Amino acid sequence: MPLFGRKKKEPEVVVAEPEAPQLPPPPPTDERGWRSMEDHRDYLLDQVHQLPAFGQQILDALDLSICEDIESDVDLPGFDNSAMDGYAVHFGDTLGATEDAPVTLAVMGEIAAGDWSEEPLPPGTAIKIMTGAPIPPGADAVVPYEATDRGTEDVLVFAAAREGQHIRRRGEDVSAGDVMMRSGARVGARDVGLLAAIGVDKVMVRPRPRVVVLATGSELVEPGLALSNPAQLYDSNSYLLAAAARAEGAQVFRVGLVGDDAEAIKQAISDQLVRADLIITTGGVSQGDYDVVKAVMPELGLTDFCEVAMQPGKPQGFGLIGEDRVPMIMLPGNPVSAYISFEAFVRPVIRKMMGVEPLFRPQVRAIATHLLRSVPGKKQFARGLVTTDPAGRRSVTAVGGHGSHLVSSMARANALIVMDPDVDHVPAGSHVPVWMLDEVS
Ligand code: AMP
Ligand code: MG
Repeated sequence: MPLFGRKKKEPEVVVAEPEAPQLPPPPPTDERGWRSMEDHRDYLLDQVHQLPAFGQQILDALDLSICEDIESDVDLPGFDNSAMDGYAVHFGDTLGATEDAPVTLAVMGEIAAGDWSEEPLPPGTAIKIMTGAPIPPGADAVVPYEATDRGTEDVLVFAAAREGQHIRRRGEDVSAGDVMMRSGARVGARDVGLLAAIGVDKVMVRPRPRVVVLATGSELVEPGLALSNPAQLYDSNSYLLAAAARAEGAQVFRVGLVGDDAEAIKQAISDQLVRADLIITTGGVSQGDYDVVKAVMPELGLTDFCEVAMQPGKPQGFGLIGEDRVPMIMLPGNPVSAYISFEAFVRPVIRKMMGVEPLFRPQVRAIATHLLRSVPGKKQFARGLVTTDPAGRRSVTAVGGHGSHLVSSMARANALIVMDPDVDHVPAGSHVPVWMLDEVS
């Protein structure tokens, strides 16, 4: 058979396997295989995004980050008006008036708040005027009731008026075109008032992230129910984290408890995906036989379990779960570990989603009132009570021990004492960095 007549061998077509989706490469680890707290935090922050802004009623925008510059369309006050109940006058007509030698002016009528007239005030007359009512053309001072006999036909004025007294001038507070709020600012109660005052009813803000909080552990019992054996304990984590997330402005769905059961955990998480911008779980991420979260979550999405060079809070998990890749942060179960992990990782993530700065707790310095010991090689977070003396100097005392189960001392603390991995002790009287937990930022 002629060579050229042979059927040519089909070139082999190599169909590339679609690459399995993966999380971005994790940060480097040290010789123990651990990450630094900062690296892990930045890794999580890189994988979450600001929520898109939408128009909200100003009251619902409270605590949220505004995504537009707000210019006033109006002057405030919008017109010259009276700051007192009294009489609008020409100040020149009251010159020389005293208790003993009052000036008499004819009263032309009355102007209440909301009345509007363009009729000028004739010289030698007065008109009764209420607080907030517009000053009639020509009038240039308001004489308060207290300096008159409160007359209705004629009024006796017992004191000379200064030009402009008790008149609030148009635009003295806000001029049309002034920028009232800048994009990125957080809406506070007084901003809500200002927005209303300039007639704005809705603003573009980043919404509250919907944060689902779920605790895992077969030993856990819902507060309010009876413990059925001495090895059970009340679930505090889901309440603690739900409260902490709500305090940051999140809309929290506290789902409560799931036992250490793979199917139950998968089901509970899958059920929550539709309504979550972020899922937080506690428990089940360390090395124990019942650490089911770590075992099952890879089936539901892309996950990353690691150890962080910090104490408490060493075992950490992160995932982008389900088709929508919902971020999920899986925290250790010890309540103090869970809370410190919240402060270190979850709070910055929530703030990033909300577009709120600063992402991190302000780190300030305080003087240690006593010797503080730390485990070298890990960033140590101790619970502290900071007091400030009248000169503004902060001192800090550790409360409770190092145990990550000590919830009562955590509740008494108002700060976290931060000791970097290279620190093994802080002598009494030295400065130590602290994160202030109760300061609003
Ligand atoms: P785990 O990380 O699941 O091994 O839990 C570590 C420790 O934290 C155990 O002593 C648990 O009983 C405790 N713990 C776990 N979850 C909670 C919770 N939701 N509330 C209070 N304590 C918990
Ligand atoms: Mg557990």
